[in-house]
Amino acid sequence: MYTNIKALGTDSSTNPLKKVTIKRRGLLPDDVEMKILYCGICHSDLHQIKNDFGGTHYPVVPGHEIVGKVTAVGANVTKFKVGDHAAVGCIVDSCGECPACARDLEQFCDNGTTLSFNTPDKHLGGMTYGGFSQTYVCRENYMLNMPNFDDMAAAAPLLCAGITVYSPLKHWQAGPGKVVGILGIGGLGHVAIRIAKAMGAHVVVLTTSPEKVEDAQRLGAHEAILTSDAEQMKAHAGKIDLIIDTVSATHDVNAYLKLLAIDGAVVLVGLPVEPISIGAFNVIKGRRSFAGSNIGGIKETQEMLEFCAHHKITADVEIIDADKVNEAFERLEKGDVKYRFVIDMSTLK
Ligand code: NAP
Ligand code: ZN
Repeated sequence: MYTNIKALGTDSSTNPLKKVTIKRRGLLPDDVEMKILYCGICHSDLHQIKNDFGGTHYPVVPGHEIVGKVTAVGANVTKFKVGDHAAVGCIVDSCGECPACARDLEQFCDNGTTLSFNTPDKHLGGMTYGGFSQTYVCRENYMLNMPNFDDMAAAAPLLCAGITVYSPLKHWQAGPGKVVGILGIGGLGHVAIRIAKAMGAHVVVLTTSPEKVEDAQRLGAHEAILTSDAEQMKAHAGKIDLIIDTVSATHDVNAYLKLLAIDGAVVLVGLPVEPISIGAFNVIKGRRSFAGSNIGGIKETQEMLEFCAHHKITADVEIIDADKVNEAFERLEKGDVKYRFVIDMSTLK
C-alpha cells in the first residue's frame, strides 16, 4: 500500500531539480502522516545533489528540515493527533536496540540510521525521499512535536541547522564564563550565534564576509572578527574556549586552533570534501582538541525545539515558491542567502 505524491528531485548531479512523483508508504500501526508546510534548504542538500561524497543515489529528493501538520495516525499512535504541528529532521528510523540507540544517539545507530532521504527504505525498497515533497510518513518515535513558534517557516531550519549546533554547544558546555566562537555564518552559523548566546556564553563571530561582521551584533554576537584581518586574529589568539566550525568548503583549521585557550576545542560540523591537515604544535600546545559532531538524536532534537521556543530562537529565512528551488541552490552555492531558504510547500502543485 502506498500513495503517490508530488516532490522536487533530480536524476543526476548536473540536472536541475524538477517536479517528480514519488511513493509514500501506507500507514503502519505506529506511523504518523504529515502534510508538509515548509522545508528548509541546507547545504547538505546541495552536497548530496552534487554527489560531493560519492554516496548519492538518483533520483534524489532532498529536504530534512521539515515542518507540517498531522493528517493521519496509525492505530497504535498515542503522541500525535490529526491537526497537530509536527516536524521531521534528519533521522526517521533506527534499530532502537544497539548501544548508540540506547543512549539516544540514533545518528550513530550500529545497524544504520535511516535518514529522511537517500538511505535504504525498509518498507518500499529503493531509497528514502526527503521533505521537498507534499507529505512525509514515519514512525511516531522519530517525529518531533513542534512547539508553538510565531513563524513556523522560520522554525523549520531548527530541524537540522538548530540541532547540529545545539548538540556540540551542549556537549562542550557552552555557557556562562565560556567564550564561544562561531566560524562560518550561514544557515548553521547564524542559528548557532543565537543558541550559544541563549546558553549564556560570550559569542564571537568568525567570518570571511565583511557584511556579516556588520550584522553580527543584530544576530546577537558580542564580538565579530573578519578572519582575513591578521591583526584581529592575533588579538584573539588563545582566548576562545570552543569554536563551532560550520564552514562547508576547504579551509585551514590551524588558523582557528591558534585562537583556542588551554583545553579548548574546535568542533567541526561543516563538511568540506577535502581531508583536513593539522599542525602538531597547534594541538599539543594548550592541550587543544579538534573534534566533530553529527546532528543530534531524537530526544535532544525535541529538547532543542523546546529550548528555542522558550528563547524565541528561529532562523532568518527567505521563503521561496517550489519553482524557485534551482535558483535558491545557485544562490546558496555562492553564499547569497541571509541566512536560510525555506520552501513554502503549498506552492508544489
Ligand atoms: P551555508 O549556509 O552555505 O553556510 C556555510 C558558511 O561557510 C558560509 O556562509 C560562509 O560563512 C562559510 N564559507 C563558505 N565557503 C567558505 C570558504 N571557502 N572559506 C571560508 N568560509 C566559507 O551552509 P550550512 O547549511 O550552514 O551548512 C554548513 C556546513 O555544515 C555544510 O558543509 C553542511 O553540509 C554541513 N552540515 C553538517 C551537519 C552535521 O551534522 N555535521 C548538519 C548540517 C549541515 P562566512 O561568510 O561567514 O565566512
Ligand atoms: Zn542539514
